[in-house]
Order: sequence, then C-alpha cells, then structure tokens
Amino acid sequence: MALAPNVYDAEPIPDAARAEIDRMLGNGDLFRYTAPQDAPVTLLERDFADFIGARYALAVSSCSAALFLSLKALDLPRDARVLIPAFTFAAVPSSVVHADCVPVLCEVGENYRIDMDDFEPRIDTGIDAVIVSHMRGHTSDMDRIMAACDARNIPVIEDAAHSLGTTWGGRNIGTIGRIGCFSFQSYKLVNGGEGGIMISNDPDLIARAVIMSGAYEHNWAKHLTDPDLEAAFARCQNQLPLYNMRMNNLSAAIIRPQIAEIPRRVRQGRANHDHVAARLNASPWLEVPQKLEREERAPDSIQFNLVGMDEDDTRAFARAAAARGVNVQVFGQSTDNARAFWNWQFLPGGTPELPRTRAMLMRACDTRLPARLGREELDFIAGTLVDAAAEVMGEARVYGT
Ligand SMILES: *Cc1c(COP(=O)(O)O)cnc(C)c1O
Repeated sequence: MALAPNVYDAEPIPDAARAEIDRMLGNGDLFRYTAPQDAPVTLLERDFADFIGARYALAVSSCSAALFLSLKALDLPRDARVLIPAFTFAAVPSSVVHADCVPVLCEVGENYRIDMDDFEPRIDTGIDAVIVSHMRGHTSDMDRIMAACDARNIPVIEDAAHSLGTTWGGRNIGTIGRIGCFSFQSYKLVNGGEGGIMISNDPDLIARAVIMSGAYEHNWAKHLTDPDLEAAFARCQNQLPLYNMRMNNLSAAIIRPQIAEIPRRVRQGRANHDHVAARLNASPWLEVPQKLEREERAPDSIQFNLVGMDEDDTRAFARAAAARGVNVQVFGQSTDNARAFWNWQFLPGGTPELPRTRAMLMRACDTRLPARLGREELDFIAGTLVDAAAEVMGEARVYGT
C-alpha cells in the first residue's frame, strides 16, 4: 500500500537566504536598528509593499502582533467594540482583548464566509472597528463589507494571515481595508518560523504602529520614509507606549527570498486544491463549498463539509481516514480546537451562542494540502477521504435503512 504523504513539512528555504544568514552570523548584525539603513527587515518591508501593492509595510514578530498594533494604531477608546467573524483563529479575539477592546462575534455561513445577513444588522450595534478574518483563505464578500463599513466610517482591518496571494476582483487581499495583516508562521504560504507584517496606505496609522512596535528615539528614521510619513512620525514622537514587537534580521533574511516564490506556490496550491475538490465533490457524502465569484484563491489546505452524517458518523469518518494515514480535523469536534469559538473562554462576558457558525463547525473538515504535493500524493489524500466516507456511510445505507 502507498504511504500517506507528509503534509506537515514545509518547502526548503531558497538558497539565496544562505549568503545573507552567513553574513549575519559573521558580524552579529541581527537587530533591525543597528545598521544606519537598508537592514534586512527594512528591505523586506520595501519588497513586500511593492509585491502586494501597498504604500507602507511594517514587519513585526507575528500576525497577532500586527493585529494588536493595528487596533492600537486606530486609537480606539478603551472597551471599543470590534466585530470579528465567529470562525477564526483564537489569535484574533485575543488581539482584541489585548488591545483593551471588546470582541463582538458575527455568524459565519456553511461556506466559511461571513454571513452578511448577520453582519449587516450587527454593524449597527455600536461597532467601532471590524476585523475581517479571511479564514483559511476563504474571502468574505468584501464589496458588501466595505460598503457597509465605509457608509458608517468604520475602519476595516483585514486579517490576511492565511490568505497571502488571494485576490478579490483583481485586488490583493489585505489591500482592501484600511490595514492588512499577514503571517509568516511556518504553516502559512511564506515560512519565517514566526513573523508578521502589516500594510497600509495611511501614513498616520503606519507611523503610530512603527513607534509602538519598538522604534524608540529616532529609529523610525531607519524605515523607508517619505515626507508624509516623516510628518506623521513628528506628530507622534514621544507620544506613544512601546510594545517591542519588532522582527529581527535573521527572520527577514529567511522570508525575503520567498517573496519571489509566492506566485508559483499560489498556482500550485490552487491546482492541487481544485484537483482534490473535484474528487471530493463526486462523493455524495462530501462537499467543498464554492468560492465567491470575485475571489481567486491561494489555498494550501482544503475544507469540506460532511453531508448527511450525524456526530457518530462524523467521528467514524475521521477515524477511518486516520487509519489510512490522512489526518482530518473536524473543527468543532476536536478537543480544545482554537478555531471553535466556544473554546475562547477568555472573552469578556462569556462566549456568545452563534447557532449557524456552530452547526458549520460541527461538520466542517480541515486537511492540509501543501503546494509541494504531487499528483499521486493528492490522489492518495482524495481517495482516502472518499473511501473513508463510503466505508462509514455506504454500509450504514445497506444495513441501516
Ligand atoms: C495564523 C493565523 C493568525 C495568527 O498568526 P501568527 O503569525 O501566528 O500570530 C491569525 N489569523 C489567522 C486567520 C491565521 O490563520
């Protein structure tokens, strides 16, 4: 029997990183503000801003740090209400709590996207800011979200941690809201071990975030600036607390040469996803929801819903797939899953009930599908999932009805 593919290992880091890392090992130049200019972190910010099409970028220690600094940069009052989708990673409500704001959850539909029929009325409940989390790269209806928020002058932060390379109506995800945040943690499209970056066209927001990220004294002058940004730095000099969430040069040296790899990874990831999705959709028990029309995806995993399975069937399906070597996580059924909102017990006022999101999480499955996998490995995964469903449900049909 063929061996199940390893879906956890990352791709090798491009060779171009080695010379730069060697140079740093030789001279110990690891701190972004030691060199007077053009530190690796600064060059990463320049290259990423150019790649994504944003005026400014700030590299930090994680996407969680970028989300936190985004909220702080918006200068929201204490206890400001921040609307977030109920299907996201625990880092998102955590960043809101950390910024002394209150997370307000909205429903997410069976297609893993924000349920606009719930979002639109909720936005009128005294919401001060919105974080749209493009969870696993699934893009919500950005046209309707931006129209609703712009009409009320509510700032939108895009959590594009796991959406790098996705586009909406031809625009890069992360460039549509006031601020976009991305992750370089190892399970994301670009692997820096840890790391994050925030982008914006607004000089005041970026100046505030740069200083709070730890640009003490006049270290902001070592960022790539322009007259607008310099004026903004002058306005916030000595006015803001420092949280020290800087990126170090080693991380930047590992991340920077991967920017050129993004288009290939996106192409391969999308082809892999669509190949597996077509096979899963041929099973009566598995369903991969359609993307929205204006979205072009950049997936490195696949999510699908179980059709007609009760909770026992669902558990039996996950066991049958695991026995064949393919790990399927049902978001709502694995213990302490950080993407199940009822496990965010740190939320002020307790966890709310969101029945539609809960129902989705109880039958939504998650399987990693890294861009580097080949056809045979993809067929192994797809075949295993289809067979596991047939094993559980096929017999139930013969004997159970
Ligand atoms: C990974 C992830 C984060 C957190 O990113 P870190 O860099 O690990 O802090 C936030 N939101 C989503 C949707 C993610 O997938």
